[in-house]
Amino acid sequence: EFLANMSHEIRTPMNGILGMTGLALETELDAEQSGHLDAVRFSAESLLTIIDDILDISKIEAGKLSLESIPFSLREVVCEAVKSFAHRASEKQLELVHSIESGIPDLLIGDPVRLRQVLLNLVGNAIKFTEGGGVQVRVARAADDGGNLRLQFEVADSGIGIPQNKRELIFESFSQADGSTTRLHGGTGLGLAISSQLIEMMRGKIWVESDPGRGSNFFFTVELMKDRRRRESHAVGSDGATQAPGLRVLVAEDNAINLRLVTRVLEGHGHTVVPAGNGSDAVTACSRERFDLVLMDVQMPEMDGLEATAAIRELERSTGEHLPIVALTAHAMKGDRERCLEAGMDDYTTKPLQIDELLRIIAGHSRSIDTTSRGASSGPRKLFDFEAALERAGGDPVLLAEVVELLRQDSARRVEEIRQALDAGDAHNVECLAHALKGGLANLAAAPAAEAALCLETLGREGDLAHGAEALRMLEAELDLLMGALNSLENSSLEATPA
Ligand code: ADP
Repeated sequence: EFLANMSHEIRTPMNGILGMTGLALETELDAEQSGHLDAVRFSAESLLTIIDDILDISKIEAGKLSLESIPFSLREVVCEAVKSFAHRASEKQLELVHSIESGIPDLLIGDPVRLRQVLLNLVGNAIKFTEGGGVQVRVARAADDGGNLRLQFEVADSGIGIPQNKRELIFESFSQADGSTTRLHGGTGLGLAISSQLIEMMRGKIWVESDPGRGSNFFFTVELMKDRRRRESHAVGSDGATQAPGLRVLVAEDNAINLRLVTRVLEGHGHTVVPAGNGSDAVTACSRERFDLVLMDVQMPEMDGLEATAAIRELERSTGEHLPIVALTAHAMKGDRERCLEAGMDDYTTKPLQIDELLRIIAGHSRSIDTTSRGASSGPRKLFDFEAALERAGGDPVLLAEVVELLRQDSARRVEEIRQALDAGDAHNVECLAHALKGGLANLAAAPAAEAALCLETLGREGDLAHGAEALRMLEAELDLLMGALNSLENSSLEATPA
């Protein structure tokens, strides 16, 4: 518990530091400023590595770490691990290559995250302790008993090597071969201790052969299962998966900096963000508005993310809807994922924010958002509320029919005017036009279209037209749906109703 809480308290501000530094580095800077920010980022990343290491070793020592058993692509894990050092290797002019023995199946079952972690540690060390030559990563088949596959990984470098009397010691916690190189190279001495424990959990072994002054070869074996199913096209991989259409995302997050960060990232990818500062605000928002997805911080004041999720699921019992809820949390302990899923969340991602992972998760859920439930006039989402609209027309169906006709002409004209105002960059006009259209739509109790108009109105008021075109597209789509529904209604009830 203590560690879980510490991890949250430390990771949350780290999320802010890393994220904001990243955003600042994307702005226009002079050489001195970007130098300083690079140093901030480097330090923050090192600190995060240390935090992760300490957390890992504590979990392992407390027997609280368990491994996943999920399908993954071996080539992807190895490639990604190696690729993430490409830059550092080329800076040191080191050759960095990898090879996987042919005939090894690509799709295996095991814990890709932990396997990658071991590879990152070994390849990172190899590059750290090598000044010339290169690093090779090789994967070979060690044994194959049909179901399970034993693989042997080798990370070979042409670096400083490890003296004979240190070759056992380095696998223990906080131990380093040589104090002076460590001061030169940094590190905590935890990497190999963690790796050897993880490898043991994967029913393997780790050892090193070395020729001091000429290089080291680290070997490890692991046992993995072959996956007998066919590979699904979306099982693993990042190919284009981050191209989600613009979604309305409710972000429940109490930390203002993190909120700003998530908002910037999502808006930058064409999504619309509605913020909520705590769990109960999030529940209220969900009961009033329609969202495509919720990003839910777990630790929040008043009502936490788990309670809020339960409350939203409770609300849905009457509508039969299911809003995807993704936990966004600094908790990185095993078991948190389960707690979130148990509370009714659909997915889980940890802070510091992994932008790619977040976008991939969102893209995954946007695919599962059923477009028919957006398009049909029946179904859970009401395009407009006939009863309420009739009431607003004084119960007079003929008047209502006139209102509908007016709105039809009016909205087409306004959309064109908004488009022109957007092209001209006239934020104030966008605000006014969208506001007027919203009023007309509210008369019909056409909530989704009115909401889309409100979105444009807000952009206009805030003078932020960067996503104006996106918002206008959303509005047009909503208006199309609304008009379709009004047409079919008119053909039936409006005309059939005696004046
Ligand atoms: P850290 O790298 O954080 O100090 P590790 O547990 O990963 O911790 O490594 C422990 C020590 O083992 C290192 O400090 C270094 O002395 C030695 N070592 C690890 N890998 C290599 C390598 N490829 N070449 C030379 N020495 C190494």
